[in-house]
Amino acid sequence: MPHSKRRIALPAMTPGTGRSIAVHRFGRAGARPKAYLQAAIHANELPGAMALHHLMPLLAAADKGGRIKGEIVAVPTVNPIGLSQLAGSNHLGRYDFLGRDNFNRNWLDLSGAVAERVGARLGRDTGDNVAMIRKAALAALAAMRPVNELQTLRVEAMKLSVDADIALDLHCDLEALLHLFISRQDWPGPARALAADIGAAATLYNDPFPEALTFSGVNGALWARLARRFPAANIPQACLSGTIEYRGQHDVNHALGAADARNLYRFLVRRGIIAGRAGKLPRLKADATPIGGMDVGYCPKPGMLVYHLPKGSRVRKGDAVCEVIDPGDARGPKARTQMLSRTDGILFSRKPDGRLAWPGAVAYRIAGPKVLAHRVGMSGLDD
Ligand SMILES: [Zn+2]
Repeated sequence: MPHSKRRIALPAMTPGTGRSIAVHRFGRAGARPKAYLQAAIHANELPGAMALHHLMPLLAAADKGGRIKGEIVAVPTVNPIGLSQLAGSNHLGRYDFLGRDNFNRNWLDLSGAVAERVGARLGRDTGDNVAMIRKAALAALAAMRPVNELQTLRVEAMKLSVDADIALDLHCDLEALLHLFISRQDWPGPARALAADIGAAATLYNDPFPEALTFSGVNGALWARLARRFPAANIPQACLSGTIEYRGQHDVNHALGAADARNLYRFLVRRGIIAGRAGKLPRLKADATPIGGMDVGYCPKPGMLVYHLPKGSRVRKGDAVCEVIDPGDARGPKARTQMLSRTDGILFSRKPDGRLAWPGAVAYRIAGPKVLAHRVGMSGLDD
């Protein structure tokens, strides 16, 4: 079946306006395996949209040649609400203006609704369970009557993703190496091939699954939550769901976009969604580490942020990563507050120099192998 494009209309929030989401489908609807890829739910994060810009022509050519065995749904900019957030020559795009929600939180945990619909019928047969759960999840979404634009966006995006075998949410950071957030359920398993194929310099897993209701969190955790709720039934981890952070916000160019598209394509071949030979798995750049081992540098006070280390640096516990300078303090070096790493690991994410710091603002993230006492109980992704 040829490549098709449709638009999902969102309800107008103010008279005279109306937004929609463009959805591309490759392969045959209902064919397996199914992959769902979306970008820019944080609408100011466009490297993923660039990867899909380069991937879609490859998929269209494969489709034309009859090489797509499963189904691939691609949504290059899933959040037209965030895309429209222009304010004073700045594009925002991370938080909803109306309810102040982070766009990548408060997605729908469907495990309760699925349990109500089919819980009593889940049994020993893995295939039957997967089919029943997917059908029930779609029925639960179909029964929802979202009123506003953002809730409609969430329900509609999940109708596209919740029955997928692979759901990838493409984001980026401010200044970062390519990294990946996954669930422990998928590691090493299918997430290891994903990390190797996309060239992830750091992979962080939630253990056993993300508690935060991020998009990739709810799609993957549906299975884990149901498996926990119905221990006697055979419920597999039927969806590999991950958040790919495609470096920094300004890392949008044709060379990176084309390379990222080729890597995603190879992964889709490796998973049997597209016919062909994926070839040897690229060398894994870094073993996965627990989210609980991720040191997040929260600024202790307001000021100017200046870094000592570039992204990608290997750091030791106690190393100074950056400093917050109080511009109103005349004492020179004494006006500088150092922020020290609390783990050995890789500095995979930071901000650009010269950003304004405020108490609690995230200045950096370091992936370390050992769970840190101060991180236990933290869900992982910080706003
Ligand atoms: Zn994001």
